[in-house]
This record gives sequence, C-alpha cells and structure tokens, in this order.
Amino acid sequence: MPATPQNSNMRLFDNGFDNRFARLPPAFYRRIDPTPLAAPYLVSVSNDAAALLDLDAAETHSERFLNMLAGNLVPPGAEPLAMLYAGHQFGTFVPQLGDGRAILLGEIVNAKRERWTLQLKGAGETPFSRTADGRAVLRSTIREYLCSEAMHALGIPTTRALGIAGADEPVYRETPETAAVLLRLAPSHVRFGSFEVFYARQQHENLKLLADHVIEEHFPQCLGTPDAYEQFLIEVVERTARLIAQWQAVGFCHGVMNTDNMSILGLTLDYGPFGFMEAFNPGHICNHSDDQGRYAYENQPYIGLWNCSRLAQALTPLIDAEKCNAALARYEGAFLEKHAALMRAKLGLAQAMEGDDTLVSDLLGLLAEHGTDYTIFFRALSRDSTDAARDLMANRSAFDAWATRYASRLAAESSNDTDRHARMKAVNPKYVLRNHLAQVAIEKAEQHKDFSEIDRLLALLQHPFDEQPDFETYAAPPPDWAKDIAVSCSS
Ligand code: AMP
Ligand code: MG
Repeated sequence: MPATPQNSNMRLFDNGFDNRFARLPPAFYRRIDPTPLAAPYLVSVSNDAAALLDLDAAETHSERFLNMLAGNLVPPGAEPLAMLYAGHQFGTFVPQLGDGRAILLGEIVNAKRERWTLQLKGAGETPFSRTADGRAVLRSTIREYLCSEAMHALGIPTTRALGIAGADEPVYRETPETAAVLLRLAPSHVRFGSFEVFYARQQHENLKLLADHVIEEHFPQCLGTPDAYEQFLIEVVERTARLIAQWQAVGFCHGVMNTDNMSILGLTLDYGPFGFMEAFNPGHICNHSDDQGRYAYENQPYIGLWNCSRLAQALTPLIDAEKCNAALARYEGAFLEKHAALMRAKLGLAQAMEGDDTLVSDLLGLLAEHGTDYTIFFRALSRDSTDAARDLMANRSAFDAWATRYASRLAAESSNDTDRHARMKAVNPKYVLRNHLAQVAIEKAEQHKDFSEIDRLLALLQHPFDEQPDFETYAAPPPDWAKDIAVSCSS
C-alpha cells in the first residue's frame, strides 16, 4: 500500500485518535457514546478549522464526516466520554455539573504535531445530564459556531468550531426547536471547575493527577521546577487576565462567566448568551437571565479575578495559601498592562505616555454619554480624519475637546497619519458578530433550512479587519427590531 503520511483522513477515520484524558482514572469522566441523530444534514463547516485537522473539503463534505459530526459514527480509536466538573454558577457552588451534553471523542495530532481535542456539543444525554435532554438547539449552535471562528479571526484565544450537523428532531425549550450538534476543537476542554470538583470532594490525589496532566500536556515550561504548581497557577491567572483584557477592548460580553465556563488554557469557552457591545454602556448586561448583572461588561475583569480565586482555592492542597495569594496578585497587573496596550493600539498610539489612561477613560466616558456604537466609533477613528468619528457624537464640542487632546498626544510621538490609520484598521474590526446578524442567519436556517447566510457570515467574520465593500450593511448599527432579540441561558 502506498504510504500517505500527510493524508489526514487516515488520522481521523483510520485509528488516528488518541485520548490522553481517557488514561486518567475513571473518576475523571464517564464513558458514553453519542446518541445518534436521525437523518442529519450538514449545516456548515469551517474550512479554517478543518485545516487544523488537515481535512480537505472533499472529506468535510463526505457522508462519514457528517455522520461523525451528528454523533452517528464514532471513528475508530475514539473513546467518547463526558468529563466531570463542578463550578460556581452565578456565585453559588454547584458540587456536580460535568458534560451534560458534550461528548469528548478524543484527540488528533495534526501534521504540525499540534494536538486537538474533538468534542461534540449536543450529542445526547450523559450521566451528567441531570434533568436536561443532552441536546443543543440549532439557534445556539449557530451562535457558538460563528462566534468561535469570529473570535479567532479577531486574534482572541478561543475554542474553535469545525462544523454543525442539524436534524429535524424536535428539542423543547421555550418553544419547540430542532436539534443540532457542534463539533468543537480545543487543545483541552479542562475548566476551572474540573479542579473544583476534586477539591470539594477532598480527593486530593485526583486533584494532583489533574494538575500533573494539565501541566504535562499544556504547561511544559512549568515542569521540573520546584514550584511547578505555583508557576502553573500564575500562568493561568495571567492568561485569564489577558483574555479578559481582550474581551474588554473588543467589547465582547461573555454572559455566563461561571467557573465551569472558564478554560484552564485561558480560552474563550462556552458561548451562550454572549454579545458584542453596540451602544457603549459599561453596565451592559448581554444575558437576559442575569437579573443582577453579575456578568455585566464592566464586571468582567473583577469576575475573572474572582474565578481565578476559586481555582486558587481548589489548588490549596498543592500550593500553600500565601503562594496562591501571590499568584492571584499577578492578575491586576497583567490585566491592566494588556488592556492599556490594546487601548493604545486602538487609538493608534505607538508609545506609552503618561496620561494615556485618562485619554482612554475620558473617551469611553464620552461614548457612554452618547451611547455611541463601540465598534463603529473605533473604526471611524481609524479613517483619514476624525470627522467620521465626530459625526457619531451628539455633543460635538465635548468630542472636539477630546480630539484636541488626542491630536496633541499624537503630535507628541510624531505620529504619521497614514501609518497610524493602517495600524488602527488592523486592530479595530469593521465587522463583529452582532446579535441581529446572527439572528438573520438563524431564522433562515430554522425556517427554510437555508444555511447560506451562516456561510456568508462566517466568510465575512474570518476577515473582520478588511474592508468588504459588498457587505457595508453588515457593519451598520443594529436595526430597531434588534431590540427585541433576547439572548438567555436557554440553549
Ligand atoms: P452551560 O450553562 O451551558 O455552561 O451549562 C451548565 C451545565 O448544564 C453544564 O454541566 C452543561 O453540560 C449542562 N447543560 C446545559 N444544557 C444542557 C442540556 N440541554 N442537557 C444536558 N445538560 C445540559
Ligand atoms: Mg458550560
């Protein structure tokens, strides 16, 4: 037989699966096969994500790929399992959650020697489903799919989404909807809550095994140091802080920052009722189920630290409390440094100077006062003059006063307009996944099985910083009807 070492199909369907998580003790997971979906259809597939597994279009449009996506075909070598975890949900500890509808198939090592874990979300009941049905609805699957790939294109760490399979099987939420399965990719799906569960159960041996597993797989730089666990915690704390700085800078609101939705790798994980900031409002709550506004935009940085504190607490059997506190103390500096750098870049400032923080906070104050669209404003500011940005402000004189300060700040570093505008366009996206854009794609998919808008949005959002003249309307502020879109935990 001819050797085909680069042939990806060999890996995915010919025993190419490994599953290092399945080598951990049985207490870490439950083995469970996906529940098949009758007559599945391909909703969409991301070629960019497929490339991570070296899959070409012929393979991703094959029958067996669709069957794998739908949970109807378990590829040889895969060892499907549901991971155990706990978590703090809206501040309250829930001792057992676990993958109630997600099933880890296993891992594929690609041609670049990267290891990707494949997880089906919505693949049916697991021992952790509690009273729920193990399914995901098409609507929420489309949102997670598009946003994962959009965040990646924005340069924000995230789980990836390979594709969606849909079926006519009804799934009951507030109204009957239909089932879909999302294939999610990440180097690891371990969450803060994966540690919390063993801490709460006082299973310190398991806690240590999990930490060793994660360090060995994902934080090799910590290995062999006398304080490996502490170094690991510092790294997670700093990654989380930097991730949330990126969310704040782009105006992303996660919506459900429970500790079970916090990736140990500092990835954006579990897209539910997320939203991108439109009319700027620091108190914006994107999740209609979040009555208290615990996860409001302006709270995200604090919640990130609170969540890291829960992780640190869970690691106290491995790291003494004083060192845990020292690791947590790194959060604020990491956040502020990253956030300041990102906001400077949004303003096109090449150097850091005194007073930059107030220049930024005063601008955000103006945006809040005027309810200016966050994405549109920064993109307008990236254009040839500040006129386009000025036009977005109701109170022109207040903006003019700020613009005068901005101009002298630019002069202080002898900023070149052409260079600066190019740099600003590369960091201030023109296109983000606004709720109404997703909603149009969802309605076409739900009502007509027309998935073309999903593909159109995917292609658009894979290049968020490019001018795409045919898609000007996709960069516009939300239409009036968008006010009626309510995204909640229901998914
Ligand atoms: P989430 O709010 O999506 O992060 O989910 C919180 C917990 O509820 C996790 O343990 C999920 O696996 C579980 N869960 C959410 N939806 C379902 C569902 N439809 N069926 C089973 N478990 C679910
Ligand atoms: Mg979750």
